[in-house]
Amino acid sequence: MKKLMPSATALVLGGGVIGLFSALALRRAGFQVRLLERGLIGRQASWAGGGILSPLYPWRAPEPVWQLAADSLLVYPELCRELAEATGVDPEWTASGMAVFDAEQRAEARQWSRRAGAAVEERDLAQGALGPAPALWLPWVAQVRNPRLCRALHLFVAQAGVRCEEQMGELRLSGDGRQAIVLDTRGDRHDADVIVVAAGAWSTGLLRGLGWELPIQPVKGQMILLRGAPGLLGNIVLMKGRYLIPRRDGRILVGSTLEPDAGFDLQTDPAAAADLRNFAARLLPPGAPVELERHWAGIRPGTTDGCPIIAAHPLLDNLYINAGHYRNGLTLAPASAERLRDAVLAGVASSP
Ligand SMILES: Cc1cc2nc3c(=O)[nH]c(=O)nc-3n(C[C@H](O)[C@H](O)[C@H](O)COP(=O)(O)OP(=O)(O)OC[C@H]3O[C@@H](n4cnc5c(N)ncnc54)[C@H](O)[C@@H]3O)c2cc1C
Repeated sequence: MKKLMPSATALVLGGGVIGLFSALALRRAGFQVRLLERGLIGRQASWAGGGILSPLYPWRAPEPVWQLAADSLLVYPELCRELAEATGVDPEWTASGMAVFDAEQRAEARQWSRRAGAAVEERDLAQGALGPAPALWLPWVAQVRNPRLCRALHLFVAQAGVRCEEQMGELRLSGDGRQAIVLDTRGDRHDADVIVVAAGAWSTGLLRGLGWELPIQPVKGQMILLRGAPGLLGNIVLMKGRYLIPRRDGRILVGSTLEPDAGFDLQTDPAAAADLRNFAARLLPPGAPVELERHWAGIRPGTTDGCPIIAAHPLLDNLYINAGHYRNGLTLAPASAERLRDAVLAGVASSP
Protein backbone atom coordinates (compact mmCIF):
# COMPACT_ATOMS: atom_id res chain seq x y z
CA MET A 1 0.00 0.00 0.00
CA LYS A 2 1.26 3.47 -0.94
CA LYS A 3 2.04 5.67 2.07
CA LEU A 4 1.09 9.30 2.46
CA MET A 5 4.11 11.55 1.77
CA PRO A 6 4.77 14.04 4.62
CA SER A 7 4.52 16.80 2.02
CA ALA A 8 1.12 15.65 0.66
CA THR A 9 -1.15 18.65 0.10
CA ALA A 10 -4.91 19.13 0.27
CA LEU A 11 -7.14 22.02 -0.79
CA VAL A 12 -10.61 22.25 0.70
CA LEU A 13 -13.07 24.52 -1.15
CA GLY A 14 -15.73 25.96 1.15
CA GLY A 15 -15.54 27.15 4.75
CA GLY A 16 -18.84 25.91 6.15
CA VAL A 17 -19.04 23.27 8.83
CA ILE A 18 -18.41 20.52 6.26
CA GLY A 19 -15.28 22.18 4.88
CA LEU A 20 -13.98 22.97 8.39
CA PHE A 21 -14.43 19.42 9.67
CA SER A 22 -12.98 18.00 6.42
CA ALA A 23 -9.92 20.23 6.70
CA LEU A 24 -9.40 19.12 10.30
CA ALA A 25 -9.72 15.41 9.45
CA LEU A 26 -7.23 15.71 6.57
CA ARG A 27 -4.79 17.72 8.69
CA ARG A 28 -4.93 15.08 11.41
CA ALA A 29 -4.29 12.42 8.73
CA GLY A 30 -1.03 14.19 7.88
CA PHE A 31 -1.88 16.50 4.95
CA GLN A 32 -0.68 20.09 4.55
CA VAL A 33 -4.13 21.67 4.24
CA ARG A 34 -5.35 24.96 2.78
CA LEU A 35 -9.01 25.89 3.14
CA LEU A 36 -10.20 28.36 0.51
CA GLU A 37 -13.44 30.24 1.12
CA ARG A 38 -15.17 32.48 -1.42
CA GLY A 39 -16.51 34.88 1.26
CA LEU A 40 -16.23 34.61 5.03
CA ILE A 41 -15.79 31.32 6.85
CA GLY A 42 -18.92 29.95 8.53
CA ARG A 43 -21.36 32.58 7.28
CA GLN A 44 -23.66 30.63 4.95
CA ALA A 45 -25.92 27.65 5.78
CA SER A 46 -23.73 26.61 8.69
CA TRP A 47 -24.36 29.98 10.33
CA ALA A 48 -28.05 30.15 9.35
CA GLY A 49 -29.08 26.73 10.66
CA GLY A 50 -30.74 25.88 13.95
CA GLY A 51 -28.14 23.56 15.45
CA ILE A 52 -30.42 20.66 16.37
CA LEU A 53 -28.18 17.59 16.50
CA SER A 54 -30.60 15.06 15.04
CA PRO A 55 -32.59 14.63 11.87
CA LEU A 56 -35.95 16.29 12.66
CA TYR A 57 -37.91 13.03 12.51
CA PRO A 58 -35.08 10.50 12.84
CA TRP A 59 -37.38 7.56 12.02
CA ARG A 60 -37.95 9.10 8.59
CA ALA A 61 -34.27 9.71 7.85
CA PRO A 62 -32.65 7.44 5.23
CA GLU A 63 -30.47 4.77 6.88
CA PRO A 64 -27.12 6.28 5.72
CA VAL A 65 -28.15 9.63 7.22
CA TRP A 66 -28.99 8.06 10.56
CA GLN A 67 -25.68 6.14 10.52
CA LEU A 68 -23.73 9.37 10.02
CA ALA A 69 -25.85 11.09 12.67
CA ALA A 70 -25.33 8.33 15.23
CA ASP A 71 -21.56 8.39 14.68
CA SER A 72 -21.42 12.18 14.90
CA LEU A 73 -23.53 12.36 18.06
CA LEU A 74 -20.95 10.26 19.90
CA VAL A 75 -18.24 12.77 19.01
CA TYR A 76 -19.99 16.07 19.74
CA PRO A 77 -19.94 16.46 23.56
CA GLU A 78 -16.19 15.89 23.95
CA LEU A 79 -15.39 17.78 20.76
CA CYS A 80 -17.29 20.86 21.96
CA ARG A 81 -15.49 20.72 25.30
CA GLU A 82 -12.16 20.55 23.44
CA LEU A 83 -13.14 23.46 21.16
CA ALA A 84 -14.20 25.64 24.10
CA GLU A 85 -11.00 24.90 26.00
CA ALA A 86 -8.66 25.43 23.05
CA THR A 87 -10.31 28.52 21.54
CA GLY A 88 -12.28 30.21 24.34
CA VAL A 89 -15.41 30.05 22.15
CA ASP A 90 -18.00 27.69 23.60
CA PRO A 91 -20.33 26.07 21.02
CA GLU A 92 -22.80 25.49 23.88
CA TRP A 93 -23.47 21.81 23.25
CA THR A 94 -26.62 21.26 25.33
CA ALA A 95 -28.62 18.07 25.82
CA SER A 96 -31.98 19.83 25.60
CA GLY A 97 -34.12 16.84 24.61
CA MET A 98 -36.82 17.20 21.94
CA ALA A 99 -40.61 16.91 22.28
CA VAL A 100 -42.35 15.97 19.04
CA PHE A 101 -46.06 16.85 18.86
CA ASP A 102 -46.79 14.66 15.85
CA ALA A 103 -48.20 11.74 17.78
CA GLU A 104 -49.65 10.11 14.63
CA GLN A 105 -46.05 9.05 13.88
CA ARG A 106 -45.81 7.03 17.10
CA ALA A 107 -45.98 3.51 15.54
CA GLU A 108 -43.24 4.39 13.05
CA ALA A 109 -41.18 6.00 15.82
CA ARG A 110 -41.61 3.02 18.15
CA GLN A 111 -40.38 0.56 15.51
CA TRP A 112 -37.42 2.76 14.64
CA SER A 113 -36.54 3.23 18.30
CA ARG A 114 -36.24 -0.56 18.77
CA ARG A 115 -34.20 -0.97 15.60
CA ALA A 116 -31.87 1.99 16.19
CA GLY A 117 -31.56 1.57 19.96
CA ALA A 118 -32.43 5.25 20.49
CA ALA A 119 -35.04 6.18 23.10
CA VAL A 120 -38.44 7.51 22.01
CA GLU A 121 -40.80 7.82 24.96
CA GLU A 122 -44.56 8.31 24.55
CA ARG A 123 -45.81 10.93 26.99
CA ASP A 124 -48.48 13.54 27.51
CA LEU A 125 -46.72 16.90 27.68
CA ALA A 126 -48.07 20.38 28.41
CA GLN A 127 -47.06 22.91 25.76
CA GLY A 128 -48.52 26.44 25.58
CA ALA A 129 -51.98 26.62 24.02
CA LEU A 130 -51.79 22.91 23.13
CA GLY A 131 -52.25 22.07 26.82
CA PRO A 132 -51.34 18.49 27.80
CA ALA A 133 -51.04 16.67 24.47
CA PRO A 134 -49.67 13.30 23.36
CA ALA A 135 -46.03 13.68 22.36
CA LEU A 136 -42.91 11.71 21.54
CA TRP A 137 -40.02 12.58 23.86
CA LEU A 138 -36.44 12.11 22.59
CA PRO A 139 -34.24 12.76 25.64
CA TRP A 140 -30.95 12.32 23.77
CA VAL A 141 -31.43 15.14 21.27
CA ALA A 142 -28.87 17.90 21.82
CA GLN A 143 -28.14 21.22 20.15
CA VAL A 144 -25.16 23.44 19.42
CA ARG A 145 -25.08 27.19 18.94
CA ASN A 146 -23.91 26.87 15.36
CA PRO A 147 -22.45 30.36 14.72
CA ARG A 148 -20.22 29.73 17.75
CA LEU A 149 -19.41 26.22 16.56
CA CYS A 150 -18.21 27.71 13.25
CA ARG A 151 -16.13 30.37 15.00
CA ALA A 152 -14.57 27.85 17.35
CA LEU A 153 -13.82 25.42 14.52
CA HIS A 154 -12.25 28.19 12.43
CA LEU A 155 -9.85 29.03 15.28
CA PHE A 156 -9.24 25.36 16.07
CA VAL A 157 -8.35 24.27 12.52
CA ALA A 158 -6.01 27.24 12.22
CA GLN A 159 -4.33 26.21 15.50
CA ALA A 160 -4.00 22.69 14.06
CA GLY A 161 -2.03 24.12 11.12
CA VAL A 162 -4.69 24.51 8.41
CA ARG A 163 -4.10 27.65 6.32
CA CYS A 164 -7.50 29.35 6.11
CA GLU A 165 -7.90 31.85 3.25
CA GLU A 166 -11.10 33.91 3.10
CA GLN A 167 -12.56 36.40 0.61
CA MET A 168 -11.11 34.44 -2.31
CA GLY A 169 -14.02 35.28 -4.64
CA GLU A 170 -15.55 32.79 -7.04
CA LEU A 171 -13.06 29.92 -7.32
CA ARG A 172 -13.35 27.56 -10.26
CA LEU A 173 -12.24 24.03 -11.00
CA SER A 174 -10.61 22.84 -14.18
CA GLY A 175 -9.12 19.58 -15.39
CA ASP A 176 -5.48 19.03 -16.33
CA GLY A 177 -5.10 15.48 -17.61
CA ARG A 178 -6.31 13.24 -14.80
CA GLN A 179 -5.91 15.98 -12.19
CA ALA A 180 -8.23 18.76 -11.07
CA ILE A 181 -6.81 22.24 -10.44
CA VAL A 182 -8.32 25.32 -8.80
CA LEU A 183 -8.34 28.68 -10.58
CA ASP A 184 -8.84 31.87 -8.60
CA THR A 185 -10.42 35.12 -9.79
CA ARG A 186 -7.06 36.38 -11.13
CA GLY A 187 -6.68 33.18 -13.14
CA ASP A 188 -3.88 31.95 -10.84
CA ARG A 189 -3.64 28.20 -10.57
CA HIS A 190 -3.66 26.23 -7.28
CA ASP A 191 -2.56 22.59 -7.38
CA ALA A 192 -2.81 19.94 -4.68
CA ASP A 193 -2.52 16.18 -4.26
CA VAL A 194 -6.12 16.22 -3.06
CA ILE A 195 -8.91 18.71 -3.75
CA VAL A 196 -12.14 18.51 -1.76
CA VAL A 197 -15.30 20.31 -2.84
CA ALA A 198 -17.23 21.26 0.31
CA ALA A 199 -19.13 24.23 -1.09
CA GLY A 200 -22.59 23.24 0.16
CA ALA A 201 -25.40 24.26 -2.21
CA TRP A 202 -22.83 25.81 -4.57
CA SER A 203 -21.03 22.50 -5.16
CA THR A 204 -23.12 21.61 -8.23
CA GLY A 205 -22.03 24.77 -10.04
CA LEU A 206 -18.38 24.19 -9.16
CA LEU A 207 -18.35 20.63 -10.51
CA ARG A 208 -20.54 21.14 -13.56
CA GLY A 209 -17.57 22.43 -15.57
CA LEU A 210 -15.83 19.11 -14.99
CA GLY A 211 -18.74 17.09 -16.35
CA TRP A 212 -19.93 15.92 -12.93
CA GLU A 213 -23.63 16.80 -12.63
CA LEU A 214 -24.58 16.52 -8.96
CA PRO A 215 -28.14 16.25 -7.65
CA ILE A 216 -27.52 19.07 -5.11
CA GLN A 217 -30.05 21.92 -5.28
CA PRO A 218 -30.46 25.06 -3.14
CA VAL A 219 -33.38 24.91 -0.68
CA LYS A 220 -33.93 28.24 1.07
CA GLY A 221 -34.94 28.30 4.73
CA GLN A 222 -36.03 31.32 6.82
CA MET A 223 -35.72 31.48 10.55
CA ILE A 224 -36.46 34.01 13.32
CA LEU A 225 -34.86 34.68 16.68
CA LEU A 226 -36.99 35.71 19.66
CA ARG A 227 -35.58 37.39 22.72
CA GLY A 228 -37.17 35.36 25.51
CA ALA A 229 -36.27 34.83 29.13
CA PRO A 230 -34.14 31.95 30.47
CA GLY A 231 -36.39 29.08 31.57
CA LEU A 232 -39.30 30.05 29.31
CA LEU A 233 -38.71 26.92 27.27
CA GLY A 234 -36.73 23.96 28.57
CA ASN A 235 -36.42 21.76 25.49
CA ILE A 236 -36.60 21.68 21.71
CA VAL A 237 -40.17 21.44 20.42
CA LEU A 238 -41.08 20.06 16.99
CA MET A 239 -44.49 20.06 15.37
CA LYS A 240 -45.52 19.67 11.70
CA GLY A 241 -41.98 20.32 10.48
CA ARG A 242 -41.54 23.55 12.49
CA TYR A 243 -39.54 23.88 15.68
CA LEU A 244 -38.49 26.00 18.66
CA ILE A 245 -34.95 25.83 20.00
CA PRO A 246 -34.19 27.41 23.40
CA ARG A 247 -30.66 28.81 23.73
CA ARG A 248 -28.99 28.99 27.15
CA ASP A 249 -29.43 32.78 27.38
CA GLY A 250 -33.22 32.60 26.91
CA ARG A 251 -33.26 33.39 23.19
CA ILE A 252 -35.52 31.14 21.14
CA LEU A 253 -34.93 30.18 17.52
CA VAL A 254 -38.01 29.45 15.47
CA GLY A 255 -37.64 27.61 12.18
CA SER A 256 -37.99 27.12 9.42
CA THR A 257 -39.46 27.58 5.97
CA LEU A 258 -38.70 25.12 3.20
CA GLU A 259 -38.48 26.92 -0.17
CA PRO A 260 -37.11 24.68 -2.91
CA ASP A 261 -37.92 27.10 -5.75
CA ALA A 262 -36.18 30.21 -4.39
CA GLY A 263 -32.72 29.43 -5.81
CA PHE A 264 -29.89 31.25 -4.01
CA ASP A 265 -32.06 34.19 -2.90
CA LEU A 266 -31.34 35.27 0.69
CA GLN A 267 -34.14 37.85 1.00
CA THR A 268 -36.41 37.53 3.99
CA ASP A 269 -40.14 38.00 3.79
CA PRO A 270 -42.31 39.49 6.58
CA ALA A 271 -45.10 36.94 5.94
CA ALA A 272 -42.68 34.11 6.77
CA ALA A 273 -41.65 35.86 10.00
CA ALA A 274 -45.30 36.36 11.00
CA ASP A 275 -46.03 32.71 10.29
CA LEU A 276 -43.11 31.52 12.43
CA ARG A 277 -44.11 33.94 15.21
CA ASN A 278 -47.66 32.59 15.24
CA PHE A 279 -46.29 29.08 15.44
CA ALA A 280 -44.16 30.08 18.46
CA ALA A 281 -47.05 31.89 20.14
CA ARG A 282 -49.13 28.68 20.12
CA LEU A 283 -46.40 26.68 21.81
CA LEU A 284 -44.97 29.14 24.33
CA PRO A 285 -46.76 30.00 27.60
CA PRO A 286 -49.61 32.46 26.85
CA GLY A 287 -48.47 36.08 27.27
CA ALA A 288 -44.79 35.11 27.54
CA PRO A 289 -42.54 38.13 26.94
CA VAL A 290 -40.92 37.53 23.55
CA GLU A 291 -39.62 40.12 21.14
CA LEU A 292 -38.49 39.56 17.55
CA GLU A 293 -34.75 40.13 17.50
CA ARG A 294 -33.64 38.90 14.07
CA HIS A 295 -34.88 37.27 10.88
CA TRP A 296 -32.66 35.64 8.24
CA ALA A 297 -32.49 33.10 5.44
CA GLY A 298 -29.97 30.42 4.56
CA ILE A 299 -29.46 28.05 1.65
CA ARG A 300 -29.48 24.33 2.40
CA PRO A 301 -27.62 22.00 0.07
CA GLY A 302 -30.63 19.80 -0.78
CA THR A 303 -30.43 16.37 -2.38
CA THR A 304 -33.31 14.35 -3.82
CA ASP A 305 -32.87 11.43 -1.41
CA GLY A 306 -31.67 13.55 1.54
CA CYS A 307 -28.28 11.79 1.59
CA PRO A 308 -24.98 13.66 1.34
CA ILE A 309 -22.48 12.84 -1.38
CA ILE A 310 -19.10 11.81 0.02
CA ALA A 311 -17.12 10.38 -2.86
CA ALA A 312 -14.17 10.47 -5.23
CA HIS A 313 -14.61 11.93 -8.73
CA PRO A 314 -15.08 9.08 -11.21
CA LEU A 315 -12.36 10.32 -13.61
CA LEU A 316 -10.07 12.83 -11.90
CA ASP A 317 -7.65 11.17 -9.50
CA ASN A 318 -7.28 13.98 -6.96
CA LEU A 319 -10.87 15.26 -6.71
CA TYR A 320 -13.36 14.50 -3.92
CA ILE A 321 -16.68 15.84 -2.72
CA ASN A 322 -18.28 16.19 0.69
CA ALA A 323 -21.57 18.05 0.20
CA GLY A 324 -25.36 17.78 -0.01
CA HIS A 325 -26.15 17.50 3.71
CA TYR A 326 -29.51 19.21 3.24
CA ARG A 327 -31.30 19.73 6.60
CA ASN A 328 -28.71 17.85 8.66
CA GLY A 329 -25.28 19.25 7.92
CA LEU A 330 -24.49 20.29 11.48
CA THR A 331 -25.62 16.91 12.75
CA LEU A 332 -23.65 14.91 10.20
CA ALA A 333 -20.47 16.96 9.84
CA PRO A 334 -17.98 15.12 12.10
CA ALA A 335 -18.74 11.63 10.74
CA SER A 336 -18.98 12.92 7.15
CA ALA A 337 -15.47 14.32 7.48
CA GLU A 338 -14.22 10.94 8.71
CA ARG A 339 -15.81 9.18 5.71
CA LEU A 340 -14.26 11.77 3.40
CA ARG A 341 -10.83 11.26 4.98
CA ASP A 342 -11.20 7.47 4.57
CA ALA A 343 -12.13 7.87 0.89
CA VAL A 344 -9.12 10.14 0.35
CA LEU A 345 -6.71 7.74 2.10
CA ALA A 346 -8.12 4.80 0.09
CA GLY A 347 -7.60 6.85 -3.09
CA VAL A 348 -4.02 7.70 -2.14
CA ALA A 349 -3.31 4.05 -1.28
CA SER A 350 -4.59 2.77 -4.64
CA SER A 351 -3.01 5.45 -6.84
CA PRO A 352 -0.17 4.27 -9.13
C1 LIG B 1 -32.79 27.57 8.15
C2 LIG B 1 -31.90 26.37 8.28
C3 LIG B 1 -32.00 25.56 9.42
C4 LIG B 1 -31.15 24.45 9.57
N1 LIG B 1 -31.18 23.75 10.74
C5 LIG B 1 -30.32 22.71 10.93
C6 LIG B 1 -30.29 22.01 12.16
O1 LIG B 1 -31.02 22.35 13.10
N2 LIG B 1 -29.46 20.95 12.28
C7 LIG B 1 -28.64 20.55 11.26
O2 LIG B 1 -27.92 19.57 11.42
N3 LIG B 1 -28.62 21.22 10.09
C8 LIG B 1 -29.44 22.28 9.90
N4 LIG B 1 -29.45 22.96 8.71
C9 LIG B 1 -28.63 22.46 7.61
C10 LIG B 1 -27.18 22.85 7.74
O3 LIG B 1 -27.09 24.21 8.09
C11 LIG B 1 -26.45 22.57 6.41
O4 LIG B 1 -26.69 21.26 5.97
C12 LIG B 1 -24.94 22.75 6.59
O5 LIG B 1 -24.64 24.00 7.15
C13 LIG B 1 -24.21 22.60 5.27
O6 LIG B 1 -22.86 22.92 5.50
P1 LIG B 1 -21.87 23.18 4.30
O7 LIG B 1 -20.56 23.45 4.89
O8 LIG B 1 -22.02 22.08 3.30
O9 LIG B 1 -22.49 24.46 3.57
P2 LIG B 1 -22.30 26.09 3.89
O10 LIG B 1 -22.33 26.29 5.33
O11 LIG B 1 -23.28 26.73 3.03
O12 LIG B 1 -20.83 26.30 3.40
C14 LIG B 1 -20.46 26.28 2.04
C15 LIG B 1 -19.37 27.33 1.85
O13 LIG B 1 -18.84 27.22 0.53
C16 LIG B 1 -18.54 28.52 0.10
N5 LIG B 1 -18.41 28.54 -1.36
C17 LIG B 1 -19.40 28.52 -2.28
N6 LIG B 1 -18.88 28.53 -3.52
C18 LIG B 1 -17.54 28.55 -3.37
C19 LIG B 1 -16.45 28.57 -4.29
N7 LIG B 1 -16.63 28.58 -5.61
N8 LIG B 1 -15.19 28.56 -3.77
C20 LIG B 1 -14.98 28.55 -2.42
N9 LIG B 1 -15.98 28.56 -1.54
C21 LIG B 1 -17.24 28.53 -1.99
C22 LIG B 1 -19.70 29.35 0.61
O14 LIG B 1 -19.35 30.74 0.65
C23 LIG B 1 -19.91 28.75 1.99
O15 LIG B 1 -19.20 29.43 3.01
C24 LIG B 1 -30.24 24.11 8.53
C25 LIG B 1 -30.12 24.93 7.41
C26 LIG B 1 -30.93 26.06 7.29
C27 LIG B 1 -30.75 26.95 6.09
